[in-house]
Amino acid sequence: MAQASRTETGIFADLGEEIRNLAAKPNVRSAYAWFLSGEAQLVGWQLELAQIPAPPFGERARSEWLLERFLQHGLQDVHADEVGNVFGIRPGVIDKFVAVSAHMDTVFPAGTPLNVRRQGARLYGPGVSDNGAGLAALLGLAAALERVPIETLAPILFIANVGEEGEGDLRGMRQIFSDRRWLDSIAYHVVLDGAGNDTIVTEALGSRRFEVIVRGPGGHSWSDFGAPNPIVALARAVAGFAQVPVPISPKTTCNIGVIRGGTSVNSIPESASMRVDIRSTSSREIEGLEHAMRMALDRAVEEESRAAEARSSGPRRLPDLSAEIVVIGNRPGGELPAGSRILEVIRAVDLHLGNAAQVQRASTDANIPLSLGREALAIGGGGTGGGVHTLQEWFDSTGRDLGLRRILLLVLALAGLSH
Ligand SMILES: [Zn+2]
Repeated sequence: MAQASRTETGIFADLGEEIRNLAAKPNVRSAYAWFLSGEAQLVGWQLELAQIPAPPFGERARSEWLLERFLQHGLQDVHADEVGNVFGIRPGVIDKFVAVSAHMDTVFPAGTPLNVRRQGARLYGPGVSDNGAGLAALLGLAAALERVPIETLAPILFIANVGEEGEGDLRGMRQIFSDRRWLDSIAYHVVLDGAGNDTIVTEALGSRRFEVIVRGPGGHSWSDFGAPNPIVALARAVAGFAQVPVPISPKTTCNIGVIRGGTSVNSIPESASMRVDIRSTSSREIEGLEHAMRMALDRAVEEESRAAEARSSGPRRLPDLSAEIVVIGNRPGGELPAGSRILEVIRAVDLHLGNAAQVQRASTDANIPLSLGREALAIGGGGTGGGVHTLQEWFDSTGRDLGLRRILLLVLALAGLSH
């Protein structure tokens, strides 16, 4: 323990000086000044983008809007890929990038009323904070850097990506890291997600989601009585699965969130289904729980088939029940290796800014680079927010400049200055 903190102090001393020097540069001061004077612009962007619907798999209009903003702020090689991720580069002198990204999708389905409005220092509206705050910070960083002649060693890759939320299942980030151009060239990846300055997500919470479907022959409740019943089989599976113990540490959770099935009160249903969410800080626990779910389902189908045979009179052989499990979500877990530079830099930045932040585990876009063993983390875009994923979502920009200074120092320290 003592040894570790001595090493840390040593690293901090060097990095601390580096951050102090960086923060003292006149160009960095000018960028700081823009974070204050540009606040009205940031709020304007945030209100404008929150009014463009961006449901999972429906981000096109917002993607186009972001591409326009990237072009306006002097980024180079501005383009969108085939899934709608938008890229722009602030050039450097080496060929390894520092990537900064913010997801553009929201959890709100198409047709959700987007009553985006401003009341005093507060903005209200679905997605105004998650990820309006992250996107505003991303644009703020581009705009501030456009105004100051800071030359970085590493080029900075700005990304507004699709598919972070829910059924998006990190598809935007998956696409980026499956492209050799980016996979081989992103040295550090900073994810901007939501409001705040008080967290550093370096540990990726893994999750797997399933649709479990049981099917049977169906029939009339009276004349086909005895036929195996998918709802009963599913209920047996739920009861069995609910008995499976989950460890407190590593924290592991499971949820049956949706259950469906049947057509009418006097029909033996032809199918029944449920949606299951399993999460854990340990991928082994996720696998274990998935296995337990599959066992509970097999047993339930077998029991219901046997019970159906017992209650059906006569020699008639009943058609069997069948069960299917479809993986509808799979977010890989992972964590930043000890001694990673990106974590040391953000800690040194926080120390310099007098900002208190805690390392956390969550499911974010950083799951993808972290699962690949890359240096990545997720932080907030500053300000404060609440009611996330509800229609009452809000964002308060008071003190947002602290979050922006934090992002700027982190990105510049990772990229290095060329002189
Ligand atoms: Zn988010």
